[in-house]
Amino acid sequence: MVPGHQRLTRRHAPHRMTQASAPQRQDGGGVLRDNYREIVVFCGRRSVAVVVHFIYGPRRIIAKQALSLGMNQQQQVASEENPYQAMQARLDLASARLGLDPNIIAILRTCEREITISMPVVMDDGSIQVFEGFRVQHSTSRGPAKGGIRFAMNVNRDEVRALAAWMTWKCAVVSVPFGGGKGGVVCDPFKMSKGELERVTRRYVTGIMDILGPDRDVPAPDMGTDGQVMAWFMDTYSMHQRSYLPASVTGKPVSIGGSLGRVEATGRGVMLCAREALKHLGMNPKECTAVIQGAGNVGMISALQLARIGVKVIAISDVHGGLYNKAGLDLTGIREHMKRRRTLDGFDGGDRIGNNELMELECDILVPAATENVITSRNADKIHAKIIVEGANGPVTANADKILDDKGVFVVPDILANAGGVTVSYFEWVQDRMSFFWTQKEVEERMERIMVDSFAATVDMAQRFGESNRIAAYMLGVNRVAETTRIRGIYA
Ligand code: NAD
Repeated sequence: MVPGHQRLTRRHAPHRMTQASAPQRQDGGGVLRDNYREIVVFCGRRSVAVVVHFIYGPRRIIAKQALSLGMNQQQQVASEENPYQAMQARLDLASARLGLDPNIIAILRTCEREITISMPVVMDDGSIQVFEGFRVQHSTSRGPAKGGIRFAMNVNRDEVRALAAWMTWKCAVVSVPFGGGKGGVVCDPFKMSKGELERVTRRYVTGIMDILGPDRDVPAPDMGTDGQVMAWFMDTYSMHQRSYLPASVTGKPVSIGGSLGRVEATGRGVMLCAREALKHLGMNPKECTAVIQGAGNVGMISALQLARIGVKVIAISDVHGGLYNKAGLDLTGIREHMKRRRTLDGFDGGDRIGNNELMELECDILVPAATENVITSRNADKIHAKIIVEGANGPVTANADKILDDKGVFVVPDILANAGGVTVSYFEWVQDRMSFFWTQKEVEERMERIMVDSFAATVDMAQRFGESNRIAAYMLGVNRVAETTRIRGIYA
């Protein structure tokens, strides 16, 4: 153990903030001290950094402390819902529990490289629209940066940073030899024509090309992007490099070097985690119900895969709202309807319910598979699921972790639950580099082994350290990245 760095017990963790960007200033109200663990909250327009010890305190104490520091309610919510700070809060807890060297923590808390680009694109009507794009590489300590490209209106720099860091921990949890990256473009892909989408994609690739490549940074699909976008991505990159380079991106159609099983991989991984959680808790899938938020790639496939092992899926939603049927939904019908209409609207095999209502339904398994911050301190106590399997990245805020923990909800955290996607992306990258392709069965068997082993390692870590599954998964991932960072050394 590092001298002077104490091991922490779960309930009494005087965690040390260590790195340069961590809050050292104690103005704006000073550092509050009580028996609660500490978490970093950046508040106020001047980015005054305050350390608040609260995790084990009732919510009104959090609010009282924050208000006494000049935070209004809106700022508290913004703070809780900043995914980058949420990532750092969990990283701090895991690092403290591991007794990591403060110098290593300082490296892991920040992103290695960030690019912001401004992208003029000619629209169908002849006008020019200027889009903002990002690519962030959080870590390349264990291998090339790896992570998706998101096309959505609410993409922003802190979200992309958080998503990049989550990729670092995720790749380490499932032991694939990648670091973490993420990218995004502020746009609404559903309002663009196919031609506009292609021009945005190609312009984005050329804008960030200098840091890409099979050995540098390998993107993949995420919200609002799909196999076609990845095909344009690979084509643009290959043309500029004057080479055929399918390993430059994953999630491509099979005809241009994609892997069998990649489309289903994330949802299938969610099902495998749910299946292992049920086994761990002694529950029979055939007697269980599931609720899914999100009817896109991850949500829809998770629903279908859960149904395959006998779980009854009683509700699913998209951004416009949900469908509920106590007797079980017709998932094949919903999938066909979604392919035609791209929305659940108009499907009549269930009752319409709102997204908030859907999250609070009585069920055994809840799969948030849409976006971040859907379970926060405002609704965590209203969640009735016994198990949460996080298909989406960052669906639960750091404040909500504690509430779910107290309620005894078994949470399979995002960096494990949705790692099936990056696992098969890794297989795709390997196959492209070898130009030798595997059968679907080979892909599925190898992926299942990795997911089942990673689930077992996380639960074992949680039990050994008396930690939540989330912090245990962070401990597994962070420790592996810390080790490569330490062994490689600091190049001055
Ligand atoms: P997608 O675009 O295919 O689907 C997203 C779905 O969520 C859509 O049905 C959309 O209508 C719905 N949605 C969006 N905002 C919502 C909201 N506020 N409330 C309810 N529903 C909402 O995206 P995807 O690829 O399925 O990704 C979903 C999540 O899974 C994201 O967090 C993504 O980062 C994560 N993820 C995806 C992959 C992958 O392989 N695609 C891998 C790992 C993690």
